[in-house]
Amino acid sequence: MRTDLFASRHIGPRESDLQHMYQTIGVADMDQLIYETIPDDIRLKQPLQLDAALSEYEYLTHITELGKKNKVFQSYIGLGYHPTVIPAVIQRNIFENPGWYTAYTPYQAEIAQGRLEAILNFQTTVIELTGMEIANASLLDEGTAAAEAMALLFDVRTRDQKKNNANKFFVSEDILPQTLSVLQTRSTPIGVELVVGNHETIELTADFFGAIVQYPGKYGQIYDYTGFIANAKTMDIKVAVAADILSLAKLTPPGEMGADVVVGTTQRFGIPMGYGGPHAGFFATKEEYKRSMPGRIIGVTIDANGNRALRMALQTREQHIKREKATSNICTAQVLLAVMAGMYAVYHGPKGLQYIANKVHASAVTLTDALNQLGVYQTNTAFFDTIMVKADAAKIRPIAEQHEINFYYIDGETISIALNETTSIAHLNQIVNVFATALGKAPVTVTELSAQSQVPAQLERQSAFLQHEVFNSHHSESQLMRYIKKLERKDLSLNHSMISLGSCTMKLNAAAEMLPLSMPNWNSIHPFAPIEQAEGYQIMLKQLEHQLNIVTGFTGTTLQPNSGAQGEYAGLMAIRAYHLSRGDNHRTVCLIPSSAHGTNPASAAMAGMDIIVTKTTPEGNIDVEDLRARAIEYKDRLSCLMVTYPSTHGVFESSIIEITNIIHENGGLVYMDGANMNAQVGLTNPATIGADVCHLNLHKTFSIPHGGGGPGVGPICVNEKLVPFLPTNPIIPTGGDQAITAISAAPYGSALVCLISYGYIMMMGSEGLTNATKYAILNANYMKARLENHYPVLYSGECGRAAHEMILDCREFKQKGIEVTDIAKRLMDYGFHAPTVSFPVAGTLMVEPTESEDLAELDRFCDAMIAIRKEIETATAEDANNVLKNAPHTLAMLTANDWNFPYSREAAAFPLEYLSENKFWPSVRRVDDAYGDRNLVCSCAPIEAYM
Ligand SMILES: *Cc1c(COP(=O)(O)O)cnc(C)c1O
Repeated sequence: MRTDLFASRHIGPRESDLQHMYQTIGVADMDQLIYETIPDDIRLKQPLQLDAALSEYEYLTHITELGKKNKVFQSYIGLGYHPTVIPAVIQRNIFENPGWYTAYTPYQAEIAQGRLEAILNFQTTVIELTGMEIANASLLDEGTAAAEAMALLFDVRTRDQKKNNANKFFVSEDILPQTLSVLQTRSTPIGVELVVGNHETIELTADFFGAIVQYPGKYGQIYDYTGFIANAKTMDIKVAVAADILSLAKLTPPGEMGADVVVGTTQRFGIPMGYGGPHAGFFATKEEYKRSMPGRIIGVTIDANGNRALRMALQTREQHIKREKATSNICTAQVLLAVMAGMYAVYHGPKGLQYIANKVHASAVTLTDALNQLGVYQTNTAFFDTIMVKADAAKIRPIAEQHEINFYYIDGETISIALNETTSIAHLNQIVNVFATALGKAPVTVTELSAQSQVPAQLERQSAFLQHEVFNSHHSESQLMRYIKKLERKDLSLNHSMISLGSCTMKLNAAAEMLPLSMPNWNSIHPFAPIEQAEGYQIMLKQLEHQLNIVTGFTGTTLQPNSGAQGEYAGLMAIRAYHLSRGDNHRTVCLIPSSAHGTNPASAAMAGMDIIVTKTTPEGNIDVEDLRARAIEYKDRLSCLMVTYPSTHGVFESSIIEITNIIHENGGLVYMDGANMNAQVGLTNPATIGADVCHLNLHKTFSIPHGGGGPGVGPICVNEKLVPFLPTNPIIPTGGDQAITAISAAPYGSALVCLISYGYIMMMGSEGLTNATKYAILNANYMKARLENHYPVLYSGECGRAAHEMILDCREFKQKGIEVTDIAKRLMDYGFHAPTVSFPVAGTLMVEPTESEDLAELDRFCDAMIAIRKEIETATAEDANNVLKNAPHTLAMLTANDWNFPYSREAAAFPLEYLSENKFWPSVRRVDDAYGDRNLVCSCAPIEAYM
């Protein structure tokens, strides 16, 4: 037996476990199980045509070699991406630490207080630097954050009767080009008209509802927007400002100029450029818009003892509830990157941030002076870190590139140079040298930074920020290391136990897949670097696209979307473009089964579609006759169907081919939500079932860690009909020959983490990937077999098999006063994170073990669930003082002198044997959701605020 095969490390169960597992399920072997699970007519007949699997060692050698084809130049390109210093203590203890990167979105607050606090720090940083009242826990990037600002302002305009028909949105010509492209994509389907122009000369009229300006402008010029905003206000026009977060340590914040929304990216707060992402976008606004705010908000509340606790606030606004009325589909965001950026602010504190901002500014002023002495003129009248100079680009560029320096060449005679935290005096001299050489002049030597300011007095920030203790305490490495560890210990991640989140596929994120992310040749490339400098990336990304085409059976892939939901939106926009290209402007109806994930209708709404919800049968399948009736009823207007396969109920519906045929016969296309792709890879594929496009969640099926709620990558794979419409980017063209405008800011989305999925596929190979699917199905059916005598399992296939996940029905326990939440909280006492609660069916748990869990871990979880079932037996509706209702139990409760519960301390905290040697303590008692929503506090308010 080969022991160097990565697949045998990735997949949990051992050869010697299989007989026992088959027996428990009641099958002879794997073949029988798969035969009984996946309908025969959709099974693939051939193995996936992928390269032979590499061992971990071979892969790391390969990726190091490939990385050498990426050229790390000094990057002064700017445009929203800057070199930054990742504090090593953050790199080692967060970025490279599975305790942080394998965590799930903090829905289970009691075992997530660490990352909740870290994100609260991020929100506070954003609120205080922007001068706004409220901020969210991150968005996908600056471009999409700007689009969310436009959508919010469009949504809230209806509160103002006069604005009901206003549909114009002013966009400053100084906006980043990629932001403009994302705004174009997002505005058209919802009926917003963009008007691009100069904010100083535009004549705003009553038919405008909003505007967005860039601060500083894309090539560095800073403007005081106070007058513009005040003028807009007189016409009830709301203004968003896209701002550079570092500049706000030095410049008057947009909030003080009267902005309604401030957005941007926190990349330069210690997040590597990574050829475009992932980075945390930010979004800050006023209290009055909190209920329209996209994404997640972390808020302060109290626990069952009245102690301060954190949680995700206002969850009712999630697209799961709003569905087709949602104005945003954001689900996965950029939590890990937000945690890092927030920690960067904690480490540097207000003084440190000011120091960095001042130094960057001083570098820009110094460079201006030196170039001036060479006769090179700088044209920005006020700037922070980016200067614009007049010079012959054709002369400068070759010399700069010889010296491994990238500027941004605006046109033949204009160059912009954006300086950054890493810029030293030596770097300034290199730049000066390039210009001197090109002009044939003797270089001027810079010896120290200028003390002059090029920021007009009224734009110099006066207000203090980040005065809270947390930003003024952890400035030594020992301190920060311990603070990070303290938070990490409060959180349950995959490095403690399995997280069996149905639909979310929390599988292994292997160390060998993660290591390359720390290599400078991969993480220090600017997304707009000339592509010949990014050959390693181009090869890796093309190869990954090719691999995903093979896995899905499709012909084209774009890696641009930064989440599954963004993939949905991208896919629907491609479908929209396809119909428009054929003159079928009226094809706008999107059929969505009622069991769909909330992002499906939300994405369809964003793509301007008319949503028709179709019925589900009592067995949980699509009601084919209802679907046929709707498809025929709307056949002249049918755009598409959105279908999840296997279904959100974890079943391979045997009628899928009939379903996709019905849609095609009536002129529509089929969008497959690929969140459940982990049950398909190598055994069937979206093309075979008749889909035209699907998204994949690389952060589910293809091993990118969940990061506590992001990053994500949501590529879409399409057949030849849709290839021409794959999205482009205004600076580095991508996509098809009739490409739609950008879906996200960077040409290849979150390119850096695409390495993880590439590594996963390279090391698994065809057989490994197919086995992963088989073992995922095996593990799920093993758990089903063990649990179904204790919990009713809702829905299964025709032979009684689950796919890769199953739904445990907990509704009957209500008779005993026990809700599904009580079970979720009680699992914490057993050291487990709850499975998915109440999706897709309220009052149930959806369990997905994945292939990475071994038999012992599956058994441990089953034992815990069975023990809890016995506890439920003894509960009564009349008496809520029981071990389930009081769960989770904290160390403070267990060690208190008083113990006033009708069960023992041991029953509370050590109900099963394994806990005595591996106990995880929830750090707070059950949190009060309603209290937190009534008293929304979403920043680190002073301690007195909680007294
Ligand atoms: C996770 C999921 C999505 C959304 O993906 P994100 O990456 O969180 O945006 C969509 N549909 C289903 C069924 C999912 O499970």
